[in-house]
Amino acid sequence: MRAWIWFIVGGLPAAVLAPQLPSFARQLVYALGGIVAIVVIVRRLRAGRVARRRAWWCMTAAMGCAAVANFSWAVAIALGGTGAGIAWIDATYFAMYPLIAAGMLGQPIVRRYGSALAGFTEAGVALCTAVVVTWVLLYDPFVRDQPAHAIDLSIALFPALDLLILGTAVRMVVASGTLRATHLLLLAGAACLLTSDVLYFVSASLGGAWAGSGITSAGWAASYVFMAASVLHPTAAQPPADARPSSGRWGTVVYAAVVLIGPLATGWSLLHELGGHGLEVADVAVPLVPTALSAVLLVVRLGHAGRVERRRAHDLRAALHQQSQMQALLRHHALHDALTGLPNRRLLDDRLTELLAGGDGGGLIVFDLDGFKDVNDRFGHPTGDALLVEVARRLESLLSPGDTLARLGGDEFALLCPRVAEPELLARGSRLLAELRRPVEVGGVELFVSGTAGARAFTAKYSATTVLADADVALYAAKAAGKDRVIGFDEELRDQQLQRSKTAERLRAALAADELAVWYQPIVALDGDRTVGVEALVRWCPPGSAPIGPDRFIPAAEASGLIVALGDWVLNRACLDAAGWYPDTGVGVSVNVSPRQLAEPDFVARVHAALAASGLPGDALTIEITEGVLVGAGPQAEQTIAHLTALRAIGVRVAIDDFGTGYSSLAYLRDLPIDVLKIDRSFLPHSRDDVAGQTALVRAIVDLARSLGLVTVAEGVETEEHAALLRDLGCDRVQGFLLGRPAPAAGLELVAPGAPSFA
Ligand code: C2E
Ligand code: CA
Ligand code: CA
Repeated sequence: MRAWIWFIVGGLPAAVLAPQLPSFARQLVYALGGIVAIVVIVRRLRAGRVARRRAWWCMTAAMGCAAVANFSWAVAIALGGTGAGIAWIDATYFAMYPLIAAGMLGQPIVRRYGSALAGFTEAGVALCTAVVVTWVLLYDPFVRDQPAHAIDLSIALFPALDLLILGTAVRMVVASGTLRATHLLLLAGAACLLTSDVLYFVSASLGGAWAGSGITSAGWAASYVFMAASVLHPTAAQPPADARPSSGRWGTVVYAAVVLIGPLATGWSLLHELGGHGLEVADVAVPLVPTALSAVLLVVRLGHAGRVERRRAHDLRAALHQQSQMQALLRHHALHDALTGLPNRRLLDDRLTELLAGGDGGGLIVFDLDGFKDVNDRFGHPTGDALLVEVARRLESLLSPGDTLARLGGDEFALLCPRVAEPELLARGSRLLAELRRPVEVGGVELFVSGTAGARAFTAKYSATTVLADADVALYAAKAAGKDRVIGFDEELRDQQLQRSKTAERLRAALAADELAVWYQPIVALDGDRTVGVEALVRWCPPGSAPIGPDRFIPAAEASGLIVALGDWVLNRACLDAAGWYPDTGVGVSVNVSPRQLAEPDFVARVHAALAASGLPGDALTIEITEGVLVGAGPQAEQTIAHLTALRAIGVRVAIDDFGTGYSSLAYLRDLPIDVLKIDRSFLPHSRDDVAGQTALVRAIVDLARSLGLVTVAEGVETEEHAALLRDLGCDRVQGFLLGRPAPAAGLELVAPGAPSFA
C-alpha cells in the first residue's frame, strides 16, 4: 500500500484516540508520530521525488516545529509540569504557521489565470473578508468585549496566525484550475488546524472549559497526518502545469459571496454594537480597513482583467492577421510556379475560364523552348532553372495589361491575351519568339535558345479545355514544321492530329495482324559496282490495298510510342531475312532505329536477341540513327553512346542517317562511336544551276568523313550524273532508285562477291 494511505489509515485513528491517553503519553504519541512522518518525508525529498522541493521543505520544517513542541511538552509533563504556558514551546508552535503558509504558497498549482497577480488579488480579497470575520466573530466579542486580559496573549495570537494559512489556502483554491490530490490533502490539513485553533481560542476565551479537550487535540494531530500524507501523495511529484481556464459560474457565485460577507459582517457587528454597549472607533476602523483594502484589490483585479482582455484581443487580432497572411501565401503557392513566380496552369485555367464566362474572346499562345533539354544536359539543372527564370523575366516585359504569362511546367509556357484577334495574336507570338532568340547569359555562359509556339484565337463559344487542346495541336504542328516558329490553329491541324491518333491505333492492330513488311533497297559500292548492303525499309500492306510508305505512319508511331515495338519487329524481321542470304553473298543489312528505341534501357539486349534468334553475325548488321540523338552531353546522350559502344564491340556498325539535315556540326563526329556517314539526298544537285555549290558541299563532307575514317554513303542517287559525280568525289557507296528501288526480300537480286551486279 502507498505511504500516504498508511499515514491516513494509521495516523487518523491514532490522532483521534491519543487524547484519551494520559497527557504525557498523548504528547509522546504525537511527537513520535511527527518524527516518523518527518523521516519518511525527508527521505522522499532527498530522493528528489517531489516538485517544488523548497515548498515541501517548508512543510517539513513546520512539522518539525510541531514535533519539537510536542516532545518538549511531553518532557515538561515528565518533569512534573503541565506543559502549558511555556513561552518557547508556544513560540515553536507559532513558528509552524508561517512555514505552513510558505509551503502552501509555493505549491505547483495548475494556474487558472495566466498570471499570478490574479490569484493573489483574489486571495487578498478573501483574506480581507477573513480578517473582518475574524474580528467580528472572534476578537471583538471574545477579546475586546471581555474584561481586560481575560485571555492569554499566546492563545489570542492563534486566529491571527491562522489568517496566514487561510489566505494561502484560499489563494490555492482560487488560483488553481484543478486541485490535485496532494493539494486537497494539504487543504484538509489546514482545515483541521484552523478548526482546532478556533475551538481552542473560543474555549479558552470562555474560561478554558474546552482547553486541551480531545477534539482540539485530535484536530491538530489530524492536521499533521493530512499534511504528511500530502507530501507522500504521488501527485506531489507533478510539476506545475499550464493555465487551464475553468468554468467561471460557481467561481463567480463564491466570489460574490466572499466579497459580500465582509461588509455584511461589518454591518451586523455595527448594529450589534449599537444595540449593546455603544460604538467605539475600533468597531468601525478595524473592519473598515480590510474592507477598503478589499475594494482596492478589486479595482486592481478589474484593471488587470481589463489588461488581460486587451492583450488577448490583441493576440487574437495578431493571430487572425497572421492566418490571413498565411492563407494568402498558400493561395499564391497553389496558383503560382515556385521557380519563376509566374502563374501556373491552374491560374491560367481559371483566368481563361473567367474570360470565356464573361463572354469575351481572346487568344492563347502555348510555347516551349527548343533545345532546353540540351541546356539541362550540358550545363546542369541549376543553369536550366536560371535560364527559365531569365526567360520568364524577359517575357514579362512584353506583357500588355490584362495578359497572363504562365509556366505550364518544364520549359512549357503560355500567354493568354484577352480580346485580341488572330492577326494580332500571331504578331504577339512572333514578338515573343524574337525575344527568345536573343542570347541569354546565365552564370557566365551565353546560351542560344529559340522557341516554338502554337496560337489559338477564340471566341466565347469555346470551352477552356478546347482552347488549350487546340493551342497544343498548333504547337505540335509548329514543331513538326521545324520549330522556331509560331503556327496558328486551324481545323485542318486538328484533323491531322485526329488522323495521327487514328493511324497509331490502326497501326497497332496492323502490327498484331502481321500486316507489316520489310522491303530492302541495295547499297552499292562504287569501286566494283556491287551490292555490299541493303537498307531495311518498313511497309504497311493492308490486305487488298497498295503498300503504305513509312512517311505516312512513322510520325504517328513515334508520337504514340508504338515505334519501339514496331522497330523491334523490323529489326527481327531484317535479321532473319539477312541471315538467309548473308552466308552466300556477304551482304549485310542496315536497319533504321528511332531515338525512342535508343532511349530504351534494354536496347542492346534487344539487338543481341535479334542476332541470336536469326543467327546473323553482328558485323552483318548496321544500325542507322539520326544525328540528334548523339548531340549534347546529358544522361540521354551518354546512354546512347554506351549502347552504341556495346554494339560495336560485337561488330555491329553505326551509321549517321540523313547527315547534314540536323545539327550539321562536323566537329562532334570525331568523338562518337560511328562507322558510316549517310549523306542526305538533299545534297545531290537537282538542276544544272546548283551543281557547283552542291558539289563543293558534298566534297567537303566526303573529305571530312575520310579524314575521320568513316565510310560514306550517298542517298537518293537517281541519275548516272549523280553516280559519276560521287565517284569523282571519292564517295564510297551509293543508294538510290538508279541502283534499285526498295523491294520485298524475295525480289532481291543479290550476287556473290566478285560478280558484277551493276553495270
Ligand atoms: P531514310 O532512312 O532516309 O530511308 C531512305 C528513304 O529514301 C526511303 O524512303 C527510300 O525509299 C527513299 N529513297 C531511296 N532511294 C531514293 C531515290 O533515289 N530518290 C528518292 N526521292 N527517294 C529515295 P521510305 O522507304 O519511304 O522511308 C522513309 C523514311 O522512313 C526513311 O528514311 C526512314 O527514316 C523511315 N523508316 C523507314 N523504315 C523505317 C523503320 O523500320 N524504322 C524507322 N525508325 N524508320 C524507318
Ligand atoms: Ca535510313
Ligand atoms: Ca536517309
